[in-house]
Order: sequence, then C-alpha cells, then structure tokens
Amino acid sequence: MDTPVKPKPVPVVNPWAKPFWEAARENKLIIQQCKDCGTYIFYPRIACTNCFSDNLTWVPASGRGKVYTYTVVESYPPSAFIPDLPFVVAVVRLEEGVQMLSNIVGCDPHSVYCEMPVAVVFEKLNEEFTLPKFKPVEA
Ligand SMILES: [Zn+2]
Repeated sequence: MDTPVKPKPVPVVNPWAKPFWEAARENKLIIQQCKDCGTYIFYPRIACTNCFSDNLTWVPASGRGKVYTYTVVESYPPSAFIPDLPFVVAVVRLEEGVQMLSNIVGCDPHSVYCEMPVAVVFEKLNEEFTLPKFKPVEA
C-alpha cells in the first residue's frame, strides 16, 4: 500500500524569530548579536545566552561553516520526506560560532564528514518559507 505523501511541515515562528524567516525568504542568512557583549546568538532568542541582556540586534552571517555532526537518513522518515531519501540532517557550526540544524545538499549524502567546509544555500519550500541549507565548498 502506498503511503500518501503529505506536505512538509513548516517552522513554527515565534515573534522574535520573524526577522530570521523574513531574511531567509530573501535568501539572506542573519543571526542575532548581543550589543552589550558581542556574543552571536542562534537560534533566535529574547535574551543573550552569555550575559542575559535583551539588547540584541540582527547581523548578516557569513553563511560559511563546518559540519559539526550529521546523520544520513536512509529509511522511515515522516512521509513528507520519503521522496528525499537518502538525505543528510546535520548540525553546522558557522564561522560566528553558532550552530544550526539543517540539511547538507548538493552532494552524495555518503560523502559528508565531520569538519567538512560548507556554505549556505536557500531552498524555497513555499511562498512563506525558504529554508537555509548547506552545500560542500572548498576549504
Ligand atoms: Zn550579551
């Protein structure tokens, strides 16, 4: 019996995360930075993870980083993701030091390794959401 393919789930957007998703829709990657101590922050928060200040701003991120850890999903994902098999779920550490959970795309999933240099690419999911993903690049 065929499993019906449902639309992919979309992010739940907290009010303080809206700028991130609006920027992503324009193929821009931004992260928060604390104006009091300079700490970069991701995921979006209402206070600094270092000094608890709420004096935060949004800044462009380099979009470059390295694979911190990953897994290759080979089978039994939620039904909306079956057409994507096999795919890579990874934690990418950006040059700014923050980590993002995303996918590695544009390569053989089995060629991914820890510390692999990657750069952001944007995949439009629908009119409302564009997802930052990462592809391999030269170091
Ligand atoms: Zn701070």
